[in-house]
Amino acid sequence: MRILIAEDDLTSRKILAGVLRKIGHEVVETVDGLAAWAELQKTDGPKLAILDWMMPEMEGLDVVREVRALDIEKPPYIIMLTTRGEKADIIAGLDAGANDYLSKPFDTGELQARVEVGRRMVELQDALVESRKALAYEASHDPLTKLANRRAILEYLERQMVSASENGDILTAGMCDIDHFKRVNDTWGHQVGDDVLCELAHLLRESAEGRGAAGRMGGEEFLLVLRMKAGGDYMAEYAAICAGIAATPLKTRIGEIPITVSIGVSCAKGKSGVDAILGLADAALYSAKGLGRNRVVFAGGENAGEAGAACCPRPE
Ligand code: GH3
Ligand code: MG
Ligand code: MG
Ligand code: MG
Repeated sequence: MRILIAEDDLTSRKILAGVLRKIGHEVVETVDGLAAWAELQKTDGPKLAILDWMMPEMEGLDVVREVRALDIEKPPYIIMLTTRGEKADIIAGLDAGANDYLSKPFDTGELQARVEVGRRMVELQDALVESRKALAYEASHDPLTKLANRRAILEYLERQMVSASENGDILTAGMCDIDHFKRVNDTWGHQVGDDVLCELAHLLRESAEGRGAAGRMGGEEFLLVLRMKAGGDYMAEYAAICAGIAATPLKTRIGEIPITVSIGVSCAKGKSGVDAILGLADAALYSAKGLGRNRVVFAGGENAGEAGAACCPRPE
């Protein structure tokens, strides 16, 4: 692994570097605390550092303090070099955030053993960070379509409602449900149904790109959260998305399958909460189904609940 050595004493530095290189490590050498601090701030900087205590420009202890104050995902493992017998220094170093210490003059066997402990800790930390990331991903994504799951898209909606209202932007929630999806499953089987869900998810993700997000609420129901500047024609945007889906046969393992969706759209207004905006979108979706599907209905809009309100051409 890459190890940083910050040591102003030439002999000590060369011995350290020699031992570490001999056992297969890549060594970055610095001769003062400032240079060490610069190395450790790099995103791909060394993850194990051996810092001398007394150095020009910046003391080792101050480097440790600065590094520990950084808000970074994988902080480096730090071994402080001290002169034998300075117990108070050792305690101060560990208190400041050093992981371990090594007394000078050091024993090479002990150096190797302590570096090996550090390497194991760095590996353990890497594994923990990766598994935490994987868990966070699983907790927020739908395993089939890889879209944001219900919880994540609703959290996104809530955040966007606050920031859109602060900025005077329009924020819309579009509840989007595949028409007669059961027929797809009944005709071609569940796996083909899954292909359809994945392909539609892909289309919805593209539709939301740069202006919002798409999530899977459950089953064959998706939520689009789109944000635009005041005065933006969100009705036209949703109509285009609905028409686009109807015009794009979805690739599945048995060939292309055309589908349509019904979308119920509501706009965040004033201090209305997530439940209110979703309830309105749901009701609008219900209307869209009742009106014959493959269309967008806007909650509270002139087409809400009215016959002949198709924003998208009907398939027949
Ligand atoms: P409508 O136009 O009224 O929405 O009709 P529909 O057939 O789409 O609605 P319905 O609620 O009757 O059927 C939804 C179907 O979606 C039933 C269920 O088996 C299927 N479904 C839900 N989740 C999945 C899934 O993850 N994979 C597959 N293949 N099917 C799913
Ligand atoms: Mg020194
Ligand atoms: Mg459906
Ligand atoms: Mg449904």
